[in-house]
Amino acid sequence: MRWSQLIIPTLKEVPAEAEVPSHVLLLRAGFIRKLFSGAYSYLPLGLRVLKKIERIIREEMDRAGGQEVLMPAVQPAELWEESGRFAQLGEDVFVIKDRKGRKVVLGPTHEEVITDIIRNTVRSYKDLPLLVYQIQTKFRDEARPRFGVIRSKEFIMKDAYSFDADTQGLERVYDRVHQAYLTIFSRLGIKPLVVEADPGMMGGKSSHEFMILSKSGEGEIAVCKACGYAAGLEVAACEAPALGRAAKEAGTPARLEEVKTPGAKTIEEVGKLLKITPQQMVKTLLYDTDLGPAAALVRGDHELNEIKFARRGGFKKLVMASPEQILKWTGGPLGFSGPVKLKGVRVIQDFAVSAMANFVTGANLADCHLKGVNAPRDYKPDLVADIRAIQAQDPCPRCKKPVSLEAALELGHIFKLMTKYTESMKAHYLDAQGKEHPIIMGCYGLGINRILAAIVELYHDKDGIRWPPSVSPFQVEVLPVNLEDPAVRATAEEIYQALLKRGVEVLIDDRSERAGAKFKDADLVGITTQIVVGPSALKEGKVEIKSRLGGGVKRLAKDELLEGLGKNEGIFS
Ligand SMILES: [Zn+2]
Repeated sequence: MRWSQLIIPTLKEVPAEAEVPSHVLLLRAGFIRKLFSGAYSYLPLGLRVLKKIERIIREEMDRAGGQEVLMPAVQPAELWEESGRFAQLGEDVFVIKDRKGRKVVLGPTHEEVITDIIRNTVRSYKDLPLLVYQIQTKFRDEARPRFGVIRSKEFIMKDAYSFDADTQGLERVYDRVHQAYLTIFSRLGIKPLVVEADPGMMGGKSSHEFMILSKSGEGEIAVCKACGYAAGLEVAACEAPALGRAAKEAGTPARLEEVKTPGAKTIEEVGKLLKITPQQMVKTLLYDTDLGPAAALVRGDHELNEIKFARRGGFKKLVMASPEQILKWTGGPLGFSGPVKLKGVRVIQDFAVSAMANFVTGANLADCHLKGVNAPRDYKPDLVADIRAIQAQDPCPRCKKPVSLEAALELGHIFKLMTKYTESMKAHYLDAQGKEHPIIMGCYGLGINRILAAIVELYHDKDGIRWPPSVSPFQVEVLPVNLEDPAVRATAEEIYQALLKRGVEVLIDDRSERAGAKFKDADLVGITTQIVVGPSALKEGKVEIKSRLGGGVKRLAKDELLEGLGKNEGIFS
């Protein structure tokens, strides 16, 4: 194709709105344009990359036994009510009303729709297993759209769903899709971290995320550089300190004593007043749950992880208690809560607290704390569990070396959903004995726009993008340096035509721009291979082949190049 006929609006300046390299470069290289906050158009070069990513995903999903379908983006709210998710929908899901007043969800995901199809088509175990996928636009009303196509209100996903008669079947397809994802990422030039994650709103048993370390990510993960362990903060285990340590550190249990702490509510204020460190204090956090009032006890320098707390406590609802509730349940104001003499509140204590002795807590009394607190002498927790968030320098759950916390961008996510949707929506099959069972389900997502942005995050330099060959918008760019020179013009055209004839995807920069501007644009756009046709090399009958990806430049006789095209298909790959 010819540059002069395509929309490639390159920019010299860095757009003010763009913070991360992928956003800056996709705008500057003319791959995308913003319509409004959180919605982007793909221009010809951007769309070519997007389609190449989709093609690789299709090939590998088909190889994994998948079959492609296409489901509607508009979904009746009743389906979401049936699955029980409608009530849980947050503000980030678009719900609209059609002209008859019927509530319609703009699909952020398609578990309900596919389960509806399956319950109406699958009768017996003979119809299973199934792996179905689609590549389709999803919607999410992001509160803060950011980083271009990384966090937008509209995005393209490959979402897949598996249906099996038993859990062994689910395990097999889960592993197969996991493997397919690794192949897809490898073909795209990405080495993802495979991160253990919490299934969250999707529900189900377990899940894994495929991530890259990037400042454009929305969450932090715990990473161990020593053994490669990577996990979400809500999953990364914080182990119980070795038994016996508590007793060793304790010495003699001190006397339980009330101390005045006027106005001191925070760990910092109390520490300053009593001249103690956060490690000698215990935070008592109160929550209103579906199982009644609950308290979480964590060491002063630790943070409670609410997802772990909810999982361990078996809570379906978890809301921080209001000052009024705290006063009612504990008898004291906010900031002075503690576990001693606390009645009617379920106390869940973090492992690390169990290793402490003679510590300080609130006294459930205004302006008072207790010191010399020891469990189980002074109170008995209802449950001791891992409820805190892992911190940098904590031991790796696998190898015990210190972990670090890193910002990471999620590109894919796979879940073992089990029967979460098939039970509530009654998607059943009959076994060989004619007995009815809910179908076992898995789901598997890949964010296609994000993958495109992630490739740019990984493959760029100060001059622009450096596309890996598998996703380069064109395989080759032919760059005639000076079109006024008839020899240059004719040779460039000859090479362009020869490449087209060979079926190579080629872009020729046929603009009558200055050579400098063309070189700059070529590097910015980042097509893997450039063939530069310039007057000086041409005097020796040569052209320059430049690898934008590898950075190398070699001179090749024009005839040798054209001959090579006839023989060697992989000359530019
Ligand atoms: Zn490790």
